This record gives sequence, structure tokens and C-alpha cells, in this order.
Amino acid sequence: MTTVTRFAPSPNGPLHLGHAYAALVAHDLAHERDGEFLIRVEDIDGERSRDEWIEEHLADLAWLGIESDRPVVRQSERLESYDAALDRLKADGLLYPCRCTRAEISAAMRADGPEGPVYPGTCKKHRGDIPDDRPWAWRLDMEQATARTGALFWEDEIAGIIDARPERFGDVILARKDAPASYHLAATLDDAAQGVTLVTRGADLFEATDIHRLLIALLDLPVPHWHHHGLLVEEDGRKLAKRRGSGEDGAGLSDRRRAGEDGIALADALRAQRFPAGITLSQSLSGSA
Ligand code: GLU
Repeated sequence: MTTVTRFAPSPNGPLHLGHAYAALVAHDLAHERDGEFLIRVEDIDGERSRDEWIEEHLADLAWLGIESDRPVVRQSERLESYDAALDRLKADGLLYPCRCTRAEISAAMRADGPEGPVYPGTCKKHRGDIPDDRPWAWRLDMEQATARTGALFWEDEIAGIIDARPERFGDVILARKDAPASYHLAATLDDAAQGVTLVTRGADLFEATDIHRLLIALLDLPVPHWHHHGLLVEEDGRKLAKRRGSGEDGAGLSDRRRAGEDGIALADALRAQRFPAGITLSQSLSGSA
């Protein structure tokens, strides 16, 4: 089977060295295996996504010698397929509308899950009590969903076989009030639609793969392999962030490109894990640094 990988930036800020490293991992793994590398634009968040960032990201990647082997797909062009998947999950009785406000949710949150506090299921338990003129999000009924699929596992090229424990996340949101699909749903559907066989990404998304594996099972999608790589971190252990990335640490890609730096030489340095002073590769799988 041909290996297909992807790099999927969100156009809501500048790319930094961590993105460059992630894109190179995806690109090189595909090409080493005579496969295909794809770029996908995750612009589903209409509030924060900007077309200018798409241009910048593609120019940054081209400067590093990275181009998509197929036309670039934008999530904003795929809303119908997200709707169809949501309809199917609704018909299966696995989604419920949540009309809680942010304040209500934070007041009622249970213990922390891998992505923060876990929603206590207020809108599932008290369906009739919540005013229905409020906007709503669609949440996955995790108990029903995991009962439907039974035990699941997934395979990471580095970490091996992983038992999926999506129940730790509680009733995750699959369609937001302000966006037609959550990252989890859109990315899972896109990877399947694009025939991605090896999902490469930073270890900060390792835990979230349990949710993706569950969605794959619920929607009968093909199961890829995963490759969660280390993250570039600053000396204090903090992940490089978009907002800091273009600042003093000089890690912003477009600043480097505009300053006339050689992108191919930078890509080769990152491949050889030669990072600028103050930046290292963290192998920690939790990625919580
Ligand atoms: N759009 C996501 C991000 O920028 C990509 C996550 C993924 O590779 O699945 O973090």
C-alpha cells in the first residue's frame, strides 16, 4: 500500500520552526517510502482563519522545499461531508445538543481529562431544563459510543500498539456553536477521504488519537497508522507557540524567509536535528511541556 502522509496547518498565525519540523517529518516519511505527501489547510474555524495566512504558509513550505503532491484541500470546501457524518451519528443516537454557556460548563466541570476539564453531561441528563433558544453544540455521547464499538486500539510507529481510552475525554464536542465541525471530526474525515495511511503529527496530539480512533470505528472509516514525533521546545520546556514563534526567538518561518535565509539549508539542519540555540526536541509523548 502506498504511504500517504499530510501536513495540516491552521491558517490562524505564522508558522514556526516546530511546524517546519512537523512538515519535514511528514514529507520525508512519504517520499522515503515512494509515497505521497499532501498539504491540507485546516481553515474550519472561520473566526480565526485568514486567507493571507494560507498564502504565507504555502510560501514558507515551498521555501523549505516542501510542496503538496496533490492539489491543496481546504476544510472549508468539505463542510457537506462533515454534515453527512454528523447526520449519521445523530441517526445512530450518538449525539446530543449542548446549550450550556461557557460559564455553566466551567462551574460544573468534573475532574481533568487529557484535554482539560471533562464536561459533566448536564445537557444529556437535563434535556428539558435548558432554554432551547440558545445556540447549541453537538456532543458525542461517549458512554453510548464506546459501548457501540467495544475495545479499540491503534498503532503508532514509534510508541507501538496503544489501547484507546477515549472515555477519559468525556462527551467531546463534534460540532461547535461557531464552527461546523470540531477539529477531531474534520481531521478524521479528511484523513480518510484523502486516503492518508500514516498520520504524522506532534506528540501533543497523541492522546487525542483515542478520540479519532473511536470516530473511525463509529463511521466505518479505514484505520491508518500514526507517527507522533517529538516537539520542538524552548529551553524552559515550553512548546513553541505561534504567538511567540515570530518574536525574539527568531523561529518564525516567514521572517526568516523574508530576511533572505536559505530555506533548504534550514530544512537540512532540522532534518539533522541541528536546532537554533535555545530550542531542543522533546521526545516526551505527553507533549504537555
Ligand atoms: N491543524 C492542526 C494544527 O495546526 C493539525 C493537527 C493534525 O496534524 O492532526 O495543530
